[in-house]
Amino acid sequence: MKFTWFQSKLTFVIIPEANGSVVRLKLSRAALWSTIFLMLLLIGTICILTIRSLHSTVAVSLKSVEMKGRTAQLEQDLHRKNAAIEQLQNDIYGLSKQAAEVRSQMERMKRLEQDLHKLAPGSAERRKPGGQPVSAAVGAGGMGGEAFPVTEGQTHELAAATGARYTALHAEMKELASRLGQTKRQLQEKQERQQRTPDIWPTLSKIVTSPYGYRKDPFTKKLSFHRGIDIAGKLGDPVYAVAGGVVQSVGYDKLHGHNVVIEHDNKLRTWYMHLNRTQVNRGDRVDKGQTIGQLGTTGRSTGPHLHYEVLLSGKSTDPAPYMPSHNRKKERKK
Ligand SMILES: [Zn+2]
Repeated sequence: MKFTWFQSKLTFVIIPEANGSVVRLKLSRAALWSTIFLMLLLIGTICILTIRSLHSTVAVSLKSVEMKGRTAQLEQDLHRKNAAIEQLQNDIYGLSKQAAEVRSQMERMKRLEQDLHKLAPGSAERRKPGGQPVSAAVGAGGMGGEAFPVTEGQTHELAAATGARYTALHAEMKELASRLGQTKRQLQEKQERQQRTPDIWPTLSKIVTSPYGYRKDPFTKKLSFHRGIDIAGKLGDPVYAVAGGVVQSVGYDKLHGHNVVIEHDNKLRTWYMHLNRTQVNRGDRVDKGQTIGQLGTTGRSTGPHLHYEVLLSGKSTDPAPYMPSHNRKKERKK
């Protein structure tokens, strides 16, 4: 039955406009359905191919967009890294300039330390003064020339040289700090020695009425030995400790009147006699120039004056070498 249905034929009549002749097409049902099926198959295939092609086109364009995005990202990264490298190069350059600046400051400090060392005792020229060319401030004076971009190798060289400079500076600074400490100690020692060494007048007045040595005694008029220097002055004038030390004794007797003995360094003592009054106590620490009493005429004295004596290991010695030299010259002329 079915077979005969496929076998049966269909007639299509195409009627053109006006006078055209009518076309009759006779097709079996099987042929018609086959044609329709083939056409549908063709359309389906075309559709599938089109969709696939579209799909891959979309995928490619998506990929392309993604790649573009990535490229832009990479370019940004590269730009950032280049900027960072440039910054680092500038930093290294800045550091190298700073190192040069620190170096010149270090040279100045070395010269200063040498000057200080000359003030300390036992100083000798230990080092030749160093010297580096002094660089002018950036922008000062003229500059120019062709600009060559810095290579990676040059950057490394600059960084290594700068690092070496800082290492050297660090070592030099340590050495300088140690030398400065030593110089400071030497200066302190010198200062302390100076403080303990008599080298000033014990009075305001510089009028020596009787020097150290042989003289005719003002009371007996007989030749005697004067163990100190007599300095005339006003009653109540301050009497100064000629050096730092410790008050060994404060006392009074008919010969010396009110008197003070100060112990200094190196078995050195100073003795101040005929004082109007004393202003220190036994055991007091005194500084150079500190007032220890008032000038007077107590004891065996003919008028207001200070009998000033210097004792070395208990024996009296000429005080003149312990007083400022320009005054000693005056004294010699007398
Ligand atoms: Zn005297």
